[in-house]
Amino acid sequence: MAPCESCHAGCCRAFAVPLTGADIMAIQRRLGLSFWDFVCRWADPTGKIARGRVPHFFFPDAPESPFVICLMHFDSLFLPGTMKCRFLIECPPDDAHPLGQARCGIYGTRPSACRVFPTKLNATGDLVVLCNVPPSPREGGHPAYDLCPREWEPNEIDPIQSVQDLVVTKYEFAFFAEIARAWNQSPRSWEVFPEFLHLVYSNRVQRESDIDSEPAAEKQAAATGPLPTDRQHLVSNGAAA
Ligand code: SF4
Ligand code: SF4
Repeated sequence: MAPCESCHAGCCRAFAVPLTGADIMAIQRRLGLSFWDFVCRWADPTGKIARGRVPHFFFPDAPESPFVICLMHFDSLFLPGTMKCRFLIECPPDDAHPLGQARCGIYGTRPSACRVFPTKLNATGDLVVLCNVPPSPREGGHPAYDLCPREWEPNEIDPIQSVQDLVVTKYEFAFFAEIARAWNQSPRSWEVFPEFLHLVYSNRVQRESDIDSEPAAEKQAAATGPLPTDRQHLVSNGAAA
């Protein structure tokens, strides 16, 4: 039986889940939710959330503070004083499961960071590395935040889907980092951030002739600053919004 079956889902309680813009767009589109229903910004002054892997965004109301764009957490229904991902569906504790059982309420649309836990790509990007279960970031706290009850086995990870999920996750976080770079050149208020994201991602598909045209490229470069040439067209409209 895979470790997740019958687990109380400590991973969905202990960690801030960083999002990419693509995660946000997918959840909005497929579930009909507003940005404000599930997205928050978590201050990350020590870098413990980003861990050098996900981008920081800055906002004028707290100009010194880096933020990570994350899923909201709500109060747990059955484990008082603890928090959980707002999409985690909990069942009440019973004798066999003193912390209850829980499942993801958006499993098919869950964010990239959730899809790949607890794996990563190796240095050359051709193997899936099954990570040791990491220490809970809330270690020593409530047992609700304890992670997997045992180590995972390699045969419990889908060898095809896991590679595809990791490659997409790596790509989308790299793309989101470029968006952060454009945003942070001239940060605007948190209130307009969803509109900015919408503009960026709605311009992700363009005609070849528009991308190749010289005037458009010059205009985009002026709007976005020093971004890689092949990405300038993707963020220019959003950055200028
Ligand atoms: S804590 Fe580990 S075993 Fe439990 S749901 Fe999360 S990944 Fe699965
Ligand atoms: S989106 Fe689903 S898998 Fe991810 S933290 Fe929330 S409940 Fe867990």
